[in-house]
Amino acid sequence: MTTKISRRTFFVGGTALTALVVANLPRRASAQSRTINLYSSRHYNTDDALYDAFGEVNLIEASAEELIERIQSEGANSPGDILFTVDAGMLWRAEQAGLFQPVRSAKLNERIPENLRHPDGLWYGFTQRARVLYYSRDRVNPADLSTYEALADPQWRGKILVRPSSNIYNLSLTASRIAIHGEPETRRWLQGLVDNFARQPEGNDTAQIRAIAAGIGDVAIANSYYYIRLQKSTDPADQEVVEKVSLFFPNTGPGERGTHVNVSGAGVLKNAPNRDAAIAFLEYLASDDAQRYFAEGNNEYPVISGVPVDPVLAAHGQLKGDPLNVSNLGRYQPDSARLMNEVGWQ
Ligand code: FE
Repeated sequence: MTTKISRRTFFVGGTALTALVVANLPRRASAQSRTINLYSSRHYNTDDALYDAFGEVNLIEASAEELIERIQSEGANSPGDILFTVDAGMLWRAEQAGLFQPVRSAKLNERIPENLRHPDGLWYGFTQRARVLYYSRDRVNPADLSTYEALADPQWRGKILVRPSSNIYNLSLTASRIAIHGEPETRRWLQGLVDNFARQPEGNDTAQIRAIAAGIGDVAIANSYYYIRLQKSTDPADQEVVEKVSLFFPNTGPGERGTHVNVSGAGVLKNAPNRDAAIAFLEYLASDDAQRYFAEGNNEYPVISGVPVDPVLAAHGQLKGDPLNVSNLGRYQPDSARLMNEVGWQ
């Protein structure tokens, strides 16, 4: 059974209500039952059925920032067993706050590709998302698209759409470029990219895709699953966007490293009262069946090859992901934020 304690119910009032949640959660479950307390910023209804198949999952949902702050304030008495969140950059923030303990699991190490997990087992990636390009079918010839790097070319002056630099997805994309090219080259790239912006960055990833359809810009950078969501939408306005905009996987040409990928992922918390069950839960998420349902819940890619990909997503072609270890996305996050600020990416 999944006991869901939603952010709406408990977080609006601040600390007093937060304390109420803690009171409701037993710190330690009985030894026989597979019970865990899962702190998650990932919330899709499809996840619930998956959790039910594991055992008793007490789900605490809030934003990643709220959860990190909360686990810190709960300290040694935290009932939390697992923190699940999106973006390796966010997992790194939790890691920096000292929230995770290392896990050694032969199963997880064998199942999950090395580049999609923390080198010391502090956290593991369970779904993969690609940060891809979108373009106007009317105004852009896809033969003119190639890499993230090429978006800095003067050819794209006034045509590029992307959300603000404070967004973790963009911090991670920039961090990947620093890891690959070094700082001076990344700074030049960022400057060229910002010079090509169609407008001051605003809105979320979906808003960038919609802005192409609205004629505000010609090429956007946004995560893969947002477009799949629009494709599956029955809203005529969404269907119109899909008709006007197409998806492109950058950096997949001959000799290229592959498209920038990120993960949603989880680690076992330092003071986890149900440590063994928590590890068993992570191993469960790496199983073939769980992988398929979990990835499909948000139209993402499984982290395990051979597990079927959602057909609408699969129709865009096979993912060729950059093999860079995603822990780099955290390591270079401060440099990334500084460079983006220096070149005026708002
Ligand atoms: Fe997202």
